[in-house]
Amino acid sequence: MKTVVVLGGEGIGIECVDATCELLTAAGLPIKVLTPPQGAAAQKSHGTPIPDETKQAAVNADGVLFGAAGPDSTAVVSWLRWEMGAWAGVRPIRFYPGMRSPLAQPEGIDYVLLRENSEGLYPGREGELADLARVMPDLRDRSGRSIKEYGDGRFAVKVVTPKGAERIARFACKLARARKAQGKPGKVTCVTKSNVLRHTDGLFQEVAERVVREAGDLLFEHFHVDDAARRLVRFPTTMDVVVCMNLYGDILSDLAAETAGGLGLAPSGCFGDNGWAYFESVHGSAPDIAGRGIANPTATILSAAMMLDHMGMSAEAQRLQAAVARIYRDGKTLTPDQGGSATTRAMTDAILAAYRNS
Ligand code: NAD
Repeated sequence: MKTVVVLGGEGIGIECVDATCELLTAAGLPIKVLTPPQGAAAQKSHGTPIPDETKQAAVNADGVLFGAAGPDSTAVVSWLRWEMGAWAGVRPIRFYPGMRSPLAQPEGIDYVLLRENSEGLYPGREGELADLARVMPDLRDRSGRSIKEYGDGRFAVKVVTPKGAERIARFACKLARARKAQGKPGKVTCVTKSNVLRHTDGLFQEVAERVVREAGDLLFEHFHVDDAARRLVRFPTTMDVVVCMNLYGDILSDLAAETAGGLGLAPSGCFGDNGWAYFESVHGSAPDIAGRGIANPTATILSAAMMLDHMGMSAEAQRLQAAVARIYRDGKTLTPDQGGSATTRAMTDAILAAYRNS
């Protein structure tokens, strides 16, 4: 029996994990689901959205499934991702026939967008320009303008380290190799803006290229993020493993999810050191549809499948993915974002029935 800790976050995060937990339990999987206090409820009862007992339960668990964060539960995802050092964000982008892709020919979209989760601009180190000008009076932009010349304003710091770039590049190689064993091309596509940010993005690109070329058995290509965005729309089936710096990965994964059929379909897993991992949908708490029971549960269910795989239950994970694929093929029990009228619960029940019948 494996233990799984489930933290809903808020909004549709809670709705989707509740439905997914019922599915996992009703499917008869050998897992025990724990739901320790978190989010707004924990803030009321424990004075914090992520109490120590919840952190301990997650650390001790075999698997951790998270819903989605919103303003009241940012601390939950911050702990799972940043404090626990989950530096590799694995975001599979896959079209299942029946998904409502806006592309004319989405068949064959099947790649992984790998997001560096810990560095870059995203962690948010910001301040006043006046303070920066005081400590770095000689800092100039590429046109020679000093910080002082800008006058009032604010800045953000982008951090790239060879260590951070190397570990995500090695992770990309591992993923690409595993996919190559299943017939994929064995290609790593690196995304930066190194033509402009030569020191930071340039370092990321240089390290990624070296690591992939040294691997010897994989192909390497690099695109600047603006070109990459276009290619993910125009040539999505040419992608295999797309490794992105933090903020680019955040943005491009929403775009990529949409090419397959929508944000409600995209799962993810975040991996760190010493076996730390947790799984979550790519989407957020969706306040515009929260409370209406119409959120698409696919992203959370596929995240749960990734979690099962991580816990060594790969046959069950594949069976769950196949059940999801079947529901899209049938097209009868889909939520409104996919052109249907089913509720979150009805779609989850249909996936459960397909799982049982397979
Ligand atoms: P969002 O991802 O919550 O929603 C964007 C759009 O996609 C909305 O129109 C929403 O209705 C739709 N959508 C998302 N998931 C869906 C689903 N399962 N089924 C159907 N439609 C779905 O992004 P947002 O509105 O920009 O952000 C809302 C909150 O979520 C913010 O507080 C943001 O910070 C947070 N957020 C959290 C995460 C995370 O927890 N990893 C990711 C993104 C945003």
